[in-house]
Order: sequence, then C-alpha cells, then structure tokens
Amino acid sequence: MQYPEPIARLIDSYMKLPGIGSKTAERLAFYTLDMDNDDVTAFSQALVAAKRDIHYCSICGNITASDPCAVCRDKTRDQDQVIVVEQPKDVMALEKMNEYHGLYHVLHGVLSPIDGKGPEDINIRSLVTRLQQNEQIKEVILATNATPEGEATAMYIARLVKPAGIKVTRLAHGLAVGSDIEYADEMTLFKALEGRQEL
Ligand code: ZN
Repeated sequence: MQYPEPIARLIDSYMKLPGIGSKTAERLAFYTLDMDNDDVTAFSQALVAAKRDIHYCSICGNITASDPCAVCRDKTRDQDQVIVVEQPKDVMALEKMNEYHGLYHVLHGVLSPIDGKGPEDINIRSLVTRLQQNEQIKEVILATNATPEGEATAMYIARLVKPAGIKVTRLAHGLAVGSDIEYADEMTLFKALEGRQEL
C-alpha cells in the first residue's frame, strides 16, 4: 500500500531537507498531521515568506530583508574594517561575540577546484569593487574557515587586495584546523580576532 498522495508529497518535501532520510521524513509528516491548524499555517507561511522576503545585500552580500542590510546602513559602525566570511551564518556568529563593530563581506562559498568553484563563482569581484570604491576601508580581515579551501581562498584574496595598499589580516588559529567559524564559541572567536596576523 502507498501513502495517500498529500502525505506522500509532504514526505517528499521533508526529504529535500539536508540530513533527513525517508524514516525521519515520515515521522515529520505524521507529526505535521497532528499539529494545530494554526501552527501548520504559520509554518507554511514562514517558509514562503523567508524565501520571498530575504535577499542578498547589494553591498556586503549578507542576507537581509531590506537592501542595504542593517550593518551596511549603520554609519556608527567602524567603516575602516571589513571581515570576509564564507556564509551569512558566520556573520551571525561574529555578531554574537559583541566585540566587533566593523563591516562584513559574505563570499557565499570558497574556492574549490575539485568542485569546479573558481573566483567567479563566489562573491570576490564585488569585494574588489567595494574596496576600490570605498577609500575608508583600511583593513580586510579574512575569516574564512580553517579548512584547505578556506585557507586557499584567504590567500587568493590577500594577493588580490594587498597591492592596493590595504592591510590584510587572517584570524589567528585559536580556531582548530578544519573548523567552521559558525560553530566556534564566542571566546574562541574573540581570541582569534584579537590575535589576527597580517598576511
Ligand atoms: Zn550589507
């Protein structure tokens, strides 16, 4: 026997999420059937609204509901520092630390020749343009993850940016090799930022 079509569709939808196999998808689908109507409606509307209303900031590339994003609009932030990260989640991790008051640039990935990802596939060109157009920026802090791809991406950007006379630093390796910024605790991130070294 097969599941009725509506529940089969719901199971298929859950299976599109990362880390969700068929068993978990079935469990979630049946859980959804037991939820209040209001909660299910709110859930479905949140999915649609997030997809519809979240955009990428035209300056830094971070996710935002309004363009430019709140950080780029905030002129009280230090305008002379930019931290370069791989993902929007890394910005959230650094903001939670509450010690950094400069700007960000989100790459949306790293250079990865194995996956066929070159400089044109991530948000590097907009960083270079941004640095050319904004003379206030004096330091670029490379906070890509401590993975081989993250290191290679940091080195690539350093080579690109340094000739323009901008200071380029890399987060110190209080971060374990192979570790992701988004999972680092606030104290580790703070120490990595404090101990950053010039490239
Ligand atoms: Zn922005």
